[in-house]
Amino acid sequence: MGARLLDGETLAVKIKEGLKKEIAQLGAPHLVAVQVGENPASRVYIKQQKKSCEEMGLTYELKEFPADISLEDLSYAIEELNKDKRITGIILQMPLPAHLDARAIQIEIAPHKDVEGLHPVNMGMLVYGNPRLAPPTALGAIELLKSSGVNLKGKEVIVVGHSEIVGKPLALLLLASQLESATPTVCHIATRDLKFHTKRADILFVAVGKAGLIKADMIKEGAIVIDIGINRVPMLDEKGKPVLNEKGKPKKKTVGDVEFEAAKEICSYISPVPGGVGPLTVTMLIKNTLECAKLQKAG
Ligand code: NAD
Repeated sequence: MGARLLDGETLAVKIKEGLKKEIAQLGAPHLVAVQVGENPASRVYIKQQKKSCEEMGLTYELKEFPADISLEDLSYAIEELNKDKRITGIILQMPLPAHLDARAIQIEIAPHKDVEGLHPVNMGMLVYGNPRLAPPTALGAIELLKSSGVNLKGKEVIVVGHSEIVGKPLALLLLASQLESATPTVCHIATRDLKFHTKRADILFVAVGKAGLIKADMIKEGAIVIDIGINRVPMLDEKGKPVLNEKGKPKKKTVGDVEFEAAKEICSYISPVPGGVGPLTVTMLIKNTLECAKLQKAG
């Protein structure tokens, strides 16, 4: 026996097909990424975002600012982007240099250009149960769950992780319906007995960033498991020794937060890492850009 895989790649292709048609009708929306200073990790994201946008008929532009820019100057630059009618959406690349308060900048982005769904107005709409622009990773995780065909009504859902970009919006999305909502519980670093909660989950979302946090004995038989975590860990051979590359350095692989091989013997559905939520995150970013274009068109 083994769980069925929730294949994010295939689902993303399907959703993108639908979005492409809408994008063509709306004209090419224009996404701007704001990068402050140098950061190798966000360079990788920028490259991926640009590729995905262009494949979908969106235009993507990177605006770079020096690492020592003041909060006032960056706010002014964002204000200019807000006013520019050619720009559909704005992404603020993280992390920002330590002297800049990310929230203070995020709030400056106009709510109708907030493709990351992090502006308090959009967060507020989510609390109202009327999500307009929600964080793409949380949206992607919900899409992947829905692809299992599960009926959410009343289901015990455990969300592990309570960040603003994943755990909290995920819990709110699960509560969005008046009568058909699931029953989410949010666990986090201060949760006393994580296993007590995960073990009773019909649906388990994990977004922490700790490889191996969720072991098979923490999962209820037949549960649906959505692993959002992304971790780079050393590859090991059959004897448990690190596999080395040609330069003699340990080779690495990407894994989630769930012990995948053991877990898939217990649950009914599981999302792999990579190839699960990841491809849907960028798809939902594009969907949000489209939502922004519609909001701007509607005035
Ligand atoms: P974060 O660091 O902001 O939040 C981590 C959360 O985990 C916190 O809420 C914290 O309380 C909780 N936590 C930490 N240790 C815990 C423990 N021992 N038990 C229970 N909870 C614990 O991280 P984030 O930005 O929300 O990202 C979480 C993970 O999701 C990371 O691995 C990140 O790379 C990944 N991620 C994936 C995608 C994707 O597209 N698949 C997108 C965003 C983030």
